[in-house]
Amino acid sequence: MPPEPRDIIRLSSPHMSGHEMKYVIDAMERNQVFPLGQNVADFEEAICTYTGATACSCLSSGTAAIHLALIILGVKPGDEVLCSTFTFAASANPIVYLHAIPVFIDSEPSTWNMDPKLLRQAIEERIRKTGKKPKLILLVHLYGMPADMEGIIAVSKEFDIPILEDAAEALGSTYDGKHCGTYGEMGVYSFNGNKIITTSGGGALVSANESLCSQATFLATQARDEAPHYQHSKIGYNYRMSNICAGIGLGQMEILEERVAKRRENNSFYRDAFQNVEGLTFLTEPSRRYYPNYWLTTILINPVETGITHEELYHQLKQQHIEARPLWKPMHLQPIFALYPSYANGVSESLFNKGLCLPSGSLMTDSQREYVAETILNTITKGNCRQ
Ligand SMILES: *Cc1c(COP(=O)(O)O)cnc(C)c1O
Repeated sequence: MPPEPRDIIRLSSPHMSGHEMKYVIDAMERNQVFPLGQNVADFEEAICTYTGATACSCLSSGTAAIHLALIILGVKPGDEVLCSTFTFAASANPIVYLHAIPVFIDSEPSTWNMDPKLLRQAIEERIRKTGKKPKLILLVHLYGMPADMEGIIAVSKEFDIPILEDAAEALGSTYDGKHCGTYGEMGVYSFNGNKIITTSGGGALVSANESLCSQATFLATQARDEAPHYQHSKIGYNYRMSNICAGIGLGQMEILEERVAKRRENNSFYRDAFQNVEGLTFLTEPSRRYYPNYWLTTILINPVETGITHEELYHQLKQQHIEARPLWKPMHLQPIFALYPSYANGVSESLFNKGLCLPSGSLMTDSQREYVAETILNTITKGNCRQ
């Protein structure tokens, strides 16, 4: 049965467990309505327990987490940061906040994430051209698909350049059984409203090195030295997570594993529904080492075989109250980043030119999922008849 006419099927909606209020009310009753409190401490501990990270600092957003990580890992004005080009702008913006230089690296076809071979070439060429080694690798696990960690780590070790993982979309994804976000020097998670779990807005930095996370907490609370008279020897930020938001996060942690399972099940559903359709293909984990959370299910549309372009399909779905979204427009093709160096191989551009994200939220009902699949199949059939 199709859903109510104006009931839009969203790309990725917040989905409460029902236990969030308990933690929020508890904070209210104890008058812990500030950025430091028991919920923040407990949320940090829960993130460490879940991911296997040693330390965690909860912050106001994933973007703030990337900003602080870049500072802590020593990125200075003029330094080059090797950044995945196929990502959301929030990965790259903080590099520019620091007057450092993003150097964009294109994707490999198998994971859609940073191509280790291209990364290696880029590093060699940057050293030749600038006489200076890039400072950091900012690696994104896009749509929850783990990057080729073996390949990336090998390059990182060869040139002794640390890795910062943007795992904003990859909480719950693992590679060789180890959580995305815990491979690099530091890792970033986001709890924005559209992510796999949410605090309405928030982020976290994790690390195996406790001192890196305590530096993040220090910088995020205005960099106050240990003195009663508000002494500062560093520039600080107001980036700490509120204790109320952390309460929501604690309620969400209770069901994170279920949310991962549901998103993965959505992905299998779409695969089954389109398995006999020529011209619709999926991003698939290259081997069993990869365990993606499938935060969003993505499809590639071949216009010759399906008779429809990804843009036409997007508009058709919109008319049927289904929210799809084109894939992220690569950073090296963005007007604001066009002048920065980039190492492109055409992979991300070609994905951008034929891909869509489908409604993938854990709140979706079976009948909503079926309605999305049917609408896509009908649209494609119509498209084919038109030829
Ligand atoms: C959402 C997202 C971010 C930013 O997180 P916010 O919490 O929204 O600031 C960064 N990188 C990627 C890849 C994201 O998807």
